[in-house]
Amino acid sequence: MKIIADTHAHTLVSGHAYSTIREMAQFGAKNGLEYLALTEHGPKMTGSCQDIYFMNFKVIPREMYGINLLLGIELNILNADGEVDLPEPLLKKMDISIASIHTPPCFSDEFTIENITNAYVNVMKNPYVNIIGHPDDGRMPLDYEKLVKAAKETGTLLEVNNSSLHPLSFRANAKENYKVMLDLCKQYEVPITTGTDAHMDVEAGRFESTQELLKECDFPEELVVTTNFEKLKPYINLYKQESAAR
Ligand SMILES: [Zn+2]
Ligand SMILES: [Zn+2]
Repeated sequence: MKIIADTHAHTLVSGHAYSTIREMAQFGAKNGLEYLALTEHGPKMTGSCQDIYFMNFKVIPREMYGINLLLGIELNILNADGEVDLPEPLLKKMDISIASIHTPPCFSDEFTIENITNAYVNVMKNPYVNIIGHPDDGRMPLDYEKLVKAAKETGTLLEVNNSSLHPLSFRANAKENYKVMLDLCKQYEVPITTGTDAHMDVEAGRFESTQELLKECDFPEELVVTTNFEKLKPYINLYKQESAAR
């Protein structure tokens, strides 16, 4: 299948990523993307940008090198209650938003199966959270059945994260965990999105490991929203707000 959108990538301002917006767009175009989301880490991540960064997206052209850019955030889920690190008036203005759990100090509760599962289920109730980022890390155990059912109920996308599948990834057992998640997604007909989580331009839009996994799981193309922008649109803030304003 051909993936035309990358819903998760970072630039310099995330503090541990190494390319500019222009470089990311250039490589995204070269790697065959039509849509690239730049989703910087939320303020709670050490070295990332503050609220003011997310307030000035109006200055950034939404089309560069022939591809469309979506400007958003990868929120930190702060606790089992599903609180996040951007105030709602600002969050609702993001083109796209991902919510993820990262290691402390980003997440204040213990990594138990109850806390992690509740954190995801609760954050999905937030209408401005579009995607759950990398729900794949064995260090943060979770109940995949509850995750997939909540995604279906709330219309939230679950991400397959290409970086987690890299052999050098610090996330544990991602591939095995994704197999469990993808089986349940098939069973309950829950769509997924694809994010490279690129922290460097050369990775933007490169989905080799994701493609391999989807093939191995015989995962249906209809449930991969990033093969056609019309499928992705209804899930993201930008479009949700356009249709609400009509
Ligand atoms: Zn990062
Ligand atoms: Zn992340």
